[in-house]
Amino acid sequence: RQIYVNGGYLAESEAVIPVMDRGFLFGDAIYEVTAMIGGQLIDNDLHLARLERSLAAIDIPMPLPLDGIRQVQAELIRRNGMSDGTIYLQVSRGTAERDFLPAAEIVPNFVAFTQPRNLRDTPAQRNGISVALMPDPRWDRRDIKTSMLLGQVLAKQAAHAQGFDDVWLHEDGQITEGASSTAFILTTEGTIVTRPNSHSTLPGCTRQAVLKLIEARGLRFEERAFTIAEAQEAEEAFLTSASSLVQPVVRIGERMIGDGRPGPATRHLQELYLQTAGIRVEP
Ligand code: PLP
Repeated sequence: RQIYVNGGYLAESEAVIPVMDRGFLFGDAIYEVTAMIGGQLIDNDLHLARLERSLAAIDIPMPLPLDGIRQVQAELIRRNGMSDGTIYLQVSRGTAERDFLPAAEIVPNFVAFTQPRNLRDTPAQRNGISVALMPDPRWDRRDIKTSMLLGQVLAKQAAHAQGFDDVWLHEDGQITEGASSTAFILTTEGTIVTRPNSHSTLPGCTRQAVLKLIEARGLRFEERAFTIAEAQEAEEAFLTSASSLVQPVVRIGERMIGDGRPGPATRHLQELYLQTAGIRVEP
């Protein structure tokens, strides 16, 4: 596989970043992940817009104009012959002598790589997953997509150690989001609920695309915070992210959701999301 590093495409074994990179030393970096299915990038404009927004929020300049970033993505996909998987972008503040205060003239480091894998036809997509419940351990600017992911890493590891597939995080009795996804429930009254965007969560691109579909179809939905109890008593539950698409959730903590199988509303949204992205859905 070839990896993009600061203007060049290199064999993976040759692709290196300096030890003094601030992403490496401080987690002082922003990243993005876009899914590709059947050779087609999904919601890429939303991901690039969020990259721009996250970088602006921590005052790192764009490493290239948006079109240049699109070209890097296209070139990597071409060189690596990827048709299904994810493409990862990371921009750090740059390389400088280790000091909390960055040098004024610092230049960003920009790396990108592809990760081929099947996203669509997986056991998790078909059967749904279980999520553990854990207090949200993160800082107060979760709307910035930073590579500083230790809270999420530890929460996912703990969830796995306890036999769960993933984790939903909570704060003040309410679900914030998944460790790498947006949380949704369908209430027993038939309303789809997800938390509104704020500094408490990452504004999901898949969330945005799915909410647009929900609205266009005239399905009932509410953007509001929901409690752990509401989630556990929900009719259906699912999560969204670039790499999970629309992912059924069939157990939350010790509680089974519905009959423990993905529900019809979740199935409908799974298919609708792929169809809208132009992906052919097998009957
Ligand atoms: N929330 C968090 C904390 C995430 O890390 C992610 C994605 O990685 C998401 C939500 C979902 O965002 P998106 O749908 O843009 O992938």
